[in-house]
Order: sequence, then C-alpha cells, then structure tokens
Amino acid sequence: MEKVKIVIVGAGPAGIATAIEAKANKIEPVVVLEKAEHICNTIVKFYKPGKRVDANYREKDIRSIGICSFETETKEEFLQRIENWIKEWDLDIRLNSEVTEIKKKNESYEIFVKDRPEYLSEFVVIAIGIFGKPNKPSYLIPKELEGKVFFEPPLEIPEGKKILVVGGGNTAAEVTYYLCDKNEVYLSYRRPQFFRINEVNLKNLEEKEKQGKLKLLMATDIEKIEPFNGKIKVYFKGGKEDIYDLIYYCLGGTTPESFLRRIGIEFDEKGKPLIDEYFETNLPKVFLAGDIAFKQGSIMKAFNSAHIIIKRIKEKYLST
Ligand SMILES: Cc1cc2nc3c(=O)[nH]c(=O)nc-3n(C[C@H](O)[C@H](O)[C@H](O)COP(=O)(O)OP(=O)(O)OC[C@H]3O[C@@H](n4cnc5c(N)ncnc54)[C@H](O)[C@@H]3O)c2cc1C
Repeated sequence: MEKVKIVIVGAGPAGIATAIEAKANKIEPVVVLEKAEHICNTIVKFYKPGKRVDANYREKDIRSIGICSFETETKEEFLQRIENWIKEWDLDIRLNSEVTEIKKKNESYEIFVKDRPEYLSEFVVIAIGIFGKPNKPSYLIPKELEGKVFFEPPLEIPEGKKILVVGGGNTAAEVTYYLCDKNEVYLSYRRPQFFRINEVNLKNLEEKEKQGKLKLLMATDIEKIEPFNGKIKVYFKGGKEDIYDLIYYCLGGTTPESFLRRIGIEFDEKGKPLIDEYFETNLPKVFLAGDIAFKQGSIMKAFNSAHIIIKRIKEKYLST
C-alpha cells in the first residue's frame, strides 16, 4: 500500500482546492483520487457548453478566504483555470480511481480503490459532491418492480425470500453472504470466475456454497427482467429463465449518503452528515469538503471549505 499524508476523494473544485491548500502548507504527500476519466466530473457532465459559471452562485457577495478564487466566467474558461492550477501546483491526481471503502487501521486510514486497499493515509478529505448514483444495468427495470429490485445493499436483512444478487465484486459477495442464512440466494456474475474479490469474501462464498446455502451462477448474463405474479421473472442470455422475490444489483457506484454511512460517518436526525465547524466528521482526521458538507453548495463555498480544513489540520494535528 502507498503511504501518504492526505488522500482527497474527488477531483471537483473542493478536492482540487484542498490539494492546493495542502501543498501550500507543505502537508504532503497528497493524492487526489477521482472516479471519472477527467477532473471536475459534475461541471464537465452537467454544465452546458458556454455556461456562465457564477462566482456569486445562490449567495451574494461570497468571497474567497483561501488560495482559490475566480471571477464569473464560462465553463470552458473555468475548467482551463483549474487545469492551469493543477500544473502550477503540480497536483498528483489519479483518474479512474473510484474510492469504494475507507477503513481505520491503527492511526491511519486504509483507502480502497475499486475494492482493493491501495493507500494508507493519516488524513482523508472526502469531496465527492452530491451527484453519485449506483450503477444500473443497461436493460429497463419495469416500474412495477419498485420495492423488489434494489441498487444498494439492504440495510435490513429480509427473510424467507428467493433472492438474486447480481455482480462480481466484494459488495456482491458480502451481500450474498449476509442474505444466505435466512433466504434462498443466487449470485449471478457474468464472468466464469471471480477476479476482483478479496480472499476472505471468496472463502466465505465457497464455504456457504458447499453447505448448500447459496448457488453461484457463474458466466450468466441477464437479458431482461419482468413482473410475474407479484414476483420477478429473469431472462438469462442463452434461454434460461427463473423467478425471484427480490433482486439486489451490486454493480458499483453509490449515493454519497450510502457511501458515508458505510464508512461509519454519523448523520443527524435531518439526514445531514455530522461535522463540526471545521468540517471534521465523527471519524477523527476525516473531513468533508464542498457540496457534500453543505445544504446548498457552490464553487466558492467549496474553495473556502478546503481552506478551513487544511488550516484546521495544521493547527489541531500538526503544530508542535
Ligand atoms: C447545472 C449546475 C449549474 C451550477 N452552476 C454553478 C455556478 O454557476 N456557480 C457555482 O458556484 N456553482 C454552480 N453549481 C454548483 C457547483 O457545481 C458545485 O457546488 C460544485 O461543483 C461542488 O464542488 P465539489 O468539488 O464539492 O463536488 P463536485 O463538483 O460534484 O465534484 C465531486 C467529484 O468527486 C468525484 N467522485 C465522486 N465519488 C467519488 C468516489 N467514490 N471516488 C472518487 N471520486 C469520486 C466526482 O466524479 C467528481 O469529479 C452548479 C451545479 C449544477 C449541477
């Protein structure tokens, strides 16, 4: 595992500003992990070409308190500005690096990229924005199947159901494992062998399969699903069909809230992540920056949260 001082999750305005503030304060090494193939995925994806990027978005007279700032300009000019900063500050941004898990290990955090532990970091700044969604299959999910088909792992375990889990990563393996004692569970994966899951999960699945508690449907691909007498009819490619009560798709991706809950961040009764005035969560040395930390975010607020976080890290944890 690569050892770093700070891992920043997400290369949007908040993540990039945090990396710049960290470097300016010599808090290094700092690595920014971005799930997309490019930086600033929200801006690239959701802003129309030529869109005006307002510096005073939603709030009048918001001013920069840190290093990063901008004047109202077009989408293209703004993205060019960010590219220039990345060069100027020599930022280490790793694209195609979706963070799927963060676990405490002694005094540090283990950061999992695509289900593999890749980094060991003292500080973590989560700047993932608010637009994350679980991945869905390419075929249509009929509306009538709402409440029977899920794209996130269950929070409560159902009982006595015939369940199909779809996917081949650690999440699919863990969901199958937890469901199989109280349900009849099948795991459908399109490859003939698992290659992304860790040894513990593989061993668990094999043991349960030997005990007859689950069935692995390797090299199976689903063509479509349909409602059928209050259940779900699944058509596999090659002609096989079967009927299930529930389906859990575990195809990667997640909502930001599920991600934060899974790694152990606490929420208040209104469903907002609990952070202090310096954006630190209940997990010591884990901070939230940008949109994920605000009710209504903006780029300037994201920049300012980055400044406050790095100042806090320096004063609370690194001053001797
Ligand atoms: C249509 C639209 C117009 C807007 N116009 C303006 C405007 O004019 N002015 C303004 O100030 N604000 C505007 N905003 C709001 C502004 O875009 C956000 O406030 C800003 O992008 C927040 O930055 P962020 O870095 O917190 O999140 P984001 O910009 O959402 O960046 C998050 C990044 O994290 C990555 N990521 C997510 N999950 C993971 C993961 N698990 N692992 C690794 N990477 C991950 C994403 O791919 C993304 O690149 C607008 C928003 C929208 C949708």
